[in-house]
Parts: sequence; C-alpha cells; structure tokens
Amino acid sequence: MIELEGAGVYYFIRKVSDFKDKDVLVVGGGDSAFDYSMLVEPVAKSVVHIHRNDFFSAHEDSVRKVRESSVELLVPFWEVQEIKGEEWVEEVTIVETRSGEERTFPVQAIVFNIGFLTNLGPIEDWGLEIDKNSIKVDSRMRTNIEGVFAAGDIVTYDGKLKLISTGCGEVAVAVNNAKNYIDPKAKVSPGHSTDRHDMVQRKWARREKAAAGKEKPDAPKPE
Ligand SMILES: Cc1cc2nc3c(=O)[nH]c(=O)nc-3n(C[C@H](O)[C@H](O)[C@H](O)COP(=O)(O)OP(=O)(O)OC[C@H]3O[C@@H](n4cnc5c(N)ncnc54)[C@H](O)[C@@H]3O)c2cc1C
Repeated sequence: MIELEGAGVYYFIRKVSDFKDKDVLVVGGGDSAFDYSMLVEPVAKSVVHIHRNDFFSAHEDSVRKVRESSVELLVPFWEVQEIKGEEWVEEVTIVETRSGEERTFPVQAIVFNIGFLTNLGPIEDWGLEIDKNSIKVDSRMRTNIEGVFAAGDIVTYDGKLKLISTGCGEVAVAVNNAKNYIDPKAKVSPGHSTDRHDMVQRKWARREKAAAGKEKPDAPKPE
C-alpha cells in the first residue's frame, strides 16, 4: 500500500479539487473519515464509504449527513482487501469479512482514516509515570518528576478528554504552575485584568485623597 501513497492513496485531504470527478473510497468510522466523505461528495463522481464496525466514533450529526447524502455507506464488516493500479490507483476490492462477499469497483482515490499510532519516543525513558502510553499528571499538570509539567493529548488523569479546548486549558494550568515552581513569589492564579484595574483605581483614589489632604489651606491662626 505504501507504493500507492501519492498515487491515489491518501491519509489526509489537502485539496478537495484533487477528488473532482473521481470515484472515491473512504475508509474509517471517525470524525475525519465522515468529514472527508462530506467534503468530497459534492465534487467526486462517486463516493463509497466503508467501516468495519457497527458503531462510529464520529459525531452523530456527521454520520447522519453522510447517510442522507449520495455517499454509499457500507457497514459493518467491510474492509479493503486489494488495491490494484499501475501508475495510479485504478481498482479496489472490498470484502464483507463475515460473509466473505466481495465487491470490486473502479476508484481513482482511496482515503484511509483508520487511526494514528502514538509513540512517546525518548520521553519514555525519562522515568515518568506512564499509564496506557500517556503521562500521568495531577490537577496542576505536575508529573511524578519534580519540575516537569505536561499537558495535552500526551497526559492522562481521571476524566481526561483528548480535545483542543481541554489541551489549551491544561497548558495554562501547567505554565502558571511551572512559573510558580520556578518563582514561588509568582501567583499561580494571576487574576483578571478587570480585578487589577479596580485595584489601580483604588490606589489612585487613595493617592489623590492623600495629596488633597496635604494641599488643604492652613487653619486660620488665632488673633
Ligand atoms: C483525526 C482527529 C480529529 C480530531 N478532531 C477534533 C475535533 O474536531 N475537535 C477537538 O477538539 N479535537 C479533535 N481532535 C483532538 C485534537 O486534535 C487533539 O486533542 C489536540 O490536537 C491535542 O493537542 P496537543 O498539542 O496535545 O497534541 P498534537 O496536536 O498531537 O501536537 C503534538 C505535536 O508534537 C509533535 N511531536 C511529537 N513528538 C515530538 C518530539 N519528540 N519532539 C518534538 N515534537 C514532537 C507532533 O509532531 C505534534 O506536532 C482530533 C484528533 C484527531 C486525531
């Protein structure tokens, strides 16, 4: 399959126009697979979408949109068996793995979205506490190694969600706690600029009051 990468086999869609007037096969049950099906459907000649499970990790609404579109959705148990082509992908054979039913049809593009391999690399040897390929952190994003903080998809804790929004929040928690670790005088929670503005207003009001007190005309002297 590697030889066909760049010759009709895709893992990402960068240009929708690459799929114009092509017979496309999309493989996978996640958000990207369903997003890609809907992305190419308006321009492609035909789209067949296969998935081997009877559940989808994609958003319900994305699955609904694909079901209601011209995409032919074949689920469950459909997998790619063989891809044929000389210079470019020309034909694919898919198989229903329980019944053994096969279907062969022409394709000029196949989009695979069947997951990503995560690899901790050299970090694995640092002595960090690892749980299911992820770094364990506490609510301050501290790892078991003092001074080492972590955030994002690489971390795990009870209730962890691998989302962009949670990752961004975790980075703020990690950075603020790391700053406090380096400089204990620094506040972990810096507050909000609105609160600080109120403080500035009060400070200046005190200063003005003190200055006005000094400028008070001297009390009249007794005759
Ligand atoms: C297909 C798919 C669809 C998704 N859709 C959504 C969605 O719709 N909404 C949503 O909120 N989330 C979605 N997510 C999840 C979201 O992408 C992640 O939660 C988010 O990207 C995590 O950010 P991160 O910075 O922790 O990790 P990443 O975005 O994975 O960034 C890690 C970076 O570190 C680099 N890196 C890795 N190893 C090393 C190394 N040794 N040295 C230097 N750099 C290294 C990587 O190349 C990468 O650039 C999706 C994820 C996938 C896979």
